[in-house]
Order: sequence, then structure tokens, then C-alpha cells
Amino acid sequence: MKKKLVTLTITGALVLGGTSIVSPTINAAGNGPNYGGNETVNTSILRTHDEMVNFLEKQEAKQNDMELEIIGQTVKGRDLHLVKYMKNPENPTILFLTQQHGNEALTTEGSLEFIKHLGTGKTKGVLDNVNVLIVPMLNADGAMGDVDFSLEDYTASGDRNMTRYNALEVDLNRDHIDRIQPETKALHDNVLGAYDIDYMIDLHHQGTQSERDGDLVSGSILYPTTENVDPEVAYKSKQLGAVVFDEIDSKGWGHLGKYNGGSAETISRNGIAVEYGISTLLFEMRGMSDHFYESYVLGQKSNGYLIKQTVNTLDATVSAIADGSIESKDVSFWDTLSFQTTRPSE
Ligand SMILES: [Zn+2]
Repeated sequence: MKKKLVTLTITGALVLGGTSIVSPTINAAGNGPNYGGNETVNTSILRTHDEMVNFLEKQEAKQNDMELEIIGQTVKGRDLHLVKYMKNPENPTILFLTQQHGNEALTTEGSLEFIKHLGTGKTKGVLDNVNVLIVPMLNADGAMGDVDFSLEDYTASGDRNMTRYNALEVDLNRDHIDRIQPETKALHDNVLGAYDIDYMIDLHHQGTQSERDGDLVSGSILYPTTENVDPEVAYKSKQLGAVVFDEIDSKGWGHLGKYNGGSAETISRNGIAVEYGISTLLFEMRGMSDHFYESYVLGQKSNGYLIKQTVNTLDATVSAIADGSIESKDVSFWDTLSFQTTRPSE
């Protein structure tokens, strides 16, 4: 049975799909309604793949420094894109990857806002000192619900359901060694293996009930934890995390925990750090846009601060690499940052 939600009129500034985010609702740390059966969780307000491509093509036409490349196709034939700001190949380079899991959508929305932001001139000069690569919506088929298995039990209403898996029901973030799926193969062949990349942030969404020190978190972060990673790569990953933590945790709406992740190298955070010597950070933001498990889905009143969390993360890390401040970043906060735990259900 597909669950029907009460559909409410969306008011205020949180209308997505091509219009800008004016001012996010600022909630206390990690707040924002959970899915409880009567909030709006409607996928129609999230950009479709076509709308994203349209947005990127318009930005490319407007922005001199931006190049748009097609790096491959999904199982169902959707084009996968790389957004590239590369004035000087000698500069340090950061890659942002979004939506390996198709139901984790706000990081893509945030990265598109950031792309627009890079074209406004407010970051003038920054792109002279850092190269920025963005691969948005890697799992475009899962994001569009265009898959070879049933999404009947999924929670969200709207014009489509969204799933973690690609069209063949494979978790792309377990395919970074074998690269059997066309999405992961495209990422490795035409991005990771094609550019000299120093840093990467892999952007995801987690469930809604994680907390740290008694408060629900707005997200959680983690560096590569496989023992095969070069210690210097791991150290720089921790510095990347320090930039993100200082940027986000100081905000009224921001509260980050440490993600409790494993050491498997099939996962991008670990495998890419080992294979390419790229310093990686996993960022898991609160709440998914759709899932068959209701407790993972977050009401869309939280969209504003989560999109802002993405924009701030990208902005802060790009700036810290451009001005070199990342290289003197203290990593000791990691020793005291608690792992997030799951709030017991009532
Ligand atoms: Zn994910």
C-alpha cells in the first residue's frame, strides 16, 4: 500500500525547482519536523534531472569560468554531468559529489545554489586560487524513480518516488572498487582518474533520529577510516572536516556529530582516499527526501536549513583551500567529537 500524505500548500521561501532560496527557516540545532504522517513530503518541489540539466546549461552560458561536461550516462541513459571551474591546473582542486543515493536530494539542491553563487561575483578572486569540480546527482535514475523494481512502499507523495539504489537496485556507494555500474565507472574514468584532485566531499543524507550530546544533529561527518589510507591523506581529510565543523557547528541551526562508519574500501570515503590519495570527507545531512522506512524521511520544512548547510559547506571549504588556511587547521576537535547515537523511539 502506498501511503497518502496530507498535502499542504507550500508557503514562504522554500519553493525549489529553479527558484532561489531566499531565506531559510532558522531552527534550533537539528530541529525541523520529522515525518509523522501529516507533514508535507512532496518530491515535486525537488528538481528533476531535466530541470537540473537546464539549470546547469543556463549557468554555463552566463558564467565565463564554468564549463559543463558530460562524463557518461546512467543505466537508463540520462547524461551525467561534471561542473568544472579550472582556471589553473596547478591550483589545488576540490571535488563535491552529490546524490550517489537518489533519495538524498537536498545536497544537490545546495550544490546548484552554490554554482549560482560562484557566478555572482561575490566570490571574486577565489577561483584564481582553487579549482572546483562538482558532480551533482550521480544516481539520476534513482532520483527520478526510474528503476527496475517497485517503489510502491515509499513514503513521499509527488510526481515520483526517489530511491537510494540505481536502476538495477545497486548501491553505487558500494561499487567504488568494482565499478560495474555505468554511474560509478563514469565518475572514476572521467573525473577521479582524469584530474589531479586534492580534496573531496561526498554529500549524503542520513536518518532523522541521530543525536549528539542530547540534541538531534543537522548532520554528521567522517574522514577515511581504512588502515590502508596514507597518514597524510587522512590528516588532510581531518583538516577538511575541521573547516566544515567550524563553519556549520557555530550556526544556530547547525549541530554535527561524528559518523560511525566502517572501513570498507567499496565506499567512496575510504576507497577513493586509498586509490587516488584524495583527502575525503563524508557529510551525512539530516533526513532523506523519500524512503520506505518512514523514520528516515524528513518533513520538507527543514529543506531551507539543510540546503543552506550544503551551500555553507561548499563555500567555506573552497575559501579555506583558496586562501591556504586549511593547511594550518587544527584537527584536535576530532578527538573529543562524540559519535552520534540514535535517539530511542518513544
Ligand atoms: Zn547516502
